[in-house]
Amino acid sequence: PSSIERHSYDVLVVGAGGAGLRAAIAAHDAGARVAIICKSLLGKAHTVMAEGGAAAAMGNVYSEDNWRVHFRDTMRGGKMLNHWRMAQLHAQEAPDRIHELEDWGALFDRTPDGLISQRDFGGHRYARLAHVGDRTGLELIRTLQQRAVALGIDVYMECTITKLFQSGGRISGAFGYWRESGRFIAFEAPTVVLATGGIGKSYKVTSNSWEYTGDGHALALEAGASLVNMEFVQFHPTGMVWPPSVKGILVTESVRGDGGVLRNSEGRRFMFDYIPEFFKSETADNEDEADRWYEDKTNNRRPPELLPRDEVARAINAEVKAGRGSPHGGVFLDIASRRSEEFIKRRLPSMYHQFKELADVDITAEPMEVGPTCHYVMGGVAVDADTEESIVPGLYAAGEVAGGMHGANRLGGNSLSDLLVFGRRAGTSAAEAAAALAGERPTIPDDDIRAAAEAALAPFERQGGENAYTVQQDLQDIMHRLVGIIRKADEMEQALEELDTLNERCSRLSVEGHRQYNPGWHLALDLHNMLRVSQCIAMAALERTESRGGHTRDDFPATEDSWATVNLHCVLDDDGSVAVRHEELPSMPDELRTLFEDK
Ligand code: FAD
Repeated sequence: PSSIERHSYDVLVVGAGGAGLRAAIAAHDAGARVAIICKSLLGKAHTVMAEGGAAAAMGNVYSEDNWRVHFRDTMRGGKMLNHWRMAQLHAQEAPDRIHELEDWGALFDRTPDGLISQRDFGGHRYARLAHVGDRTGLELIRTLQQRAVALGIDVYMECTITKLFQSGGRISGAFGYWRESGRFIAFEAPTVVLATGGIGKSYKVTSNSWEYTGDGHALALEAGASLVNMEFVQFHPTGMVWPPSVKGILVTESVRGDGGVLRNSEGRRFMFDYIPEFFKSETADNEDEADRWYEDKTNNRRPPELLPRDEVARAINAEVKAGRGSPHGGVFLDIASRRSEEFIKRRLPSMYHQFKELADVDITAEPMEVGPTCHYVMGGVAVDADTEESIVPGLYAAGEVAGGMHGANRLGGNSLSDLLVFGRRAGTSAAEAAAALAGERPTIPDDDIRAAAEAALAPFERQGGENAYTVQQDLQDIMHRLVGIIRKADEMEQALEELDTLNERCSRLSVEGHRQYNPGWHLALDLHNMLRVSQCIAMAALERTESRGGHTRDDFPATEDSWATVNLHCVLDDDGSVAVRHEELPSMPDELRTLFEDK
């Protein structure tokens, strides 16, 4: 361990997406010495890929909008399983976080009278998403990154954290390796903010990039935290389905928000056939009303294409299954026949280029082919709503790696605002906790560092073992086939058995070559996390014997009242295996509960 590079900070932020950057800025502003660590290059996080916008009830387009309406939409979208306090804080604080970004130099699109423009998205009663064309994430990350760098916050990029340290019952730091040299690095810090994003790479078809291997989820679980809502994985209804090399790449919901409609092979606008009882009163039941809504939202109900994502994804799945899909196994998304070429190119420039370059399809002239793709995980580290601290003292989580905020299903646009609201809160509370410890800093014993290094090097010690790429492919295939969009008990039981086998295979992984830039080694380390997360998803999904939000059971198709107040938490047992516990949802105060009556 004496040869291992070491650093010491007050707050260590793992992840440089929106949540991590916002947390680091807040911790710095609160007086802490902060470091940001990220697996890829700074600016390459998932946040940069976000297209549609950030939801905040600023009331710029519809003055009727306010935090209470946003709170209600978020809870209803999450099928009431969200942590009410997180949903409340999110709705209340999102407008300030957007205005603050603007103060820091973000250039949002404008309304004719110069306010920040807001666009329509599924599940939101009013046009609510602050945006920059369809490249909102890029502007968000650019702004936060510039600020973090200007503040002089230390950044360790292309550096992957593989282990969290604890001593004296609290977090004491983290261990990782440099991607390029393969050399190790240890950080001493009394607080760690996990902001590592999602888990999409456990699935075969996903909008997520190579980084989303659930590292933060697994690190937290292994440190003793619990993961909540893991059965809820969001399949975005519209990913590209053709050509195969780009299958899963996202087609933003803004296409529908801006007037695009879904049709089956018979040309039918099929979403009218899939309006659930729960949303009937606020969804148009005929094309005329749906089309009028784009111009007049006060007197018309919203089109069924803009139902929450879980509803639309299931409907597409059903159409394809019924044999009414498009040639490549999706359905058609048509904006060409509904909006002018000029409008499409102005509002959806990235989509225009994406289809032109990747699929040779001109979306101003012909429909796109789209189908569900694994997009977002609602589940994540269970945290205190106000401070974002997990049950492990000193361990915080914010952004996609945290759970609770979105319940059973996340509304589009609510992630970017979530990152800002809870990133800031996590950074501030971690800085305050570190300051409160004063001189009593936990330290990391050398033995712990040695053990972390040995664990990371284990795949080099084995000869002729399993290949990481093959195991990853098998994992993605299992999750796609057996724990995907529609689930059944026997299939999930089979998945769990197959995951056990993969677990054994993982313990026999071997890698060739040496430590310098060795992607096979990196994947071998990531796989451990992907497997942990997959086990949690499959176990929680098997346990929840109902359908709700992002979790659909073929064998339990109804939403059950008995499950309406139950959260599932995944924890590690003493023997290292995953266990699932039932916990009652925190109960909502009466003044918020009344928002759901008589509507
Ligand atoms: P990320 O931005 O995912 O960043 C994670 C960071 O953690 C990265 O820096 C990564 O390198 C780092 N990291 C991970 N593991 C480790 C490790 N072991 N060690 C060190 N670093 C690590 N949401 C919206 O609200 N509106 C949208 O319009 C929207 N569009 C989207 C479009 C696409 C294509 C996708 C994929 C998602 C979209 N989302 C959208 C969702 C949203 O972008 C993500 O949920 C959000 O950006 C996650 O942010 P984050 O800060 O939690 O993590």
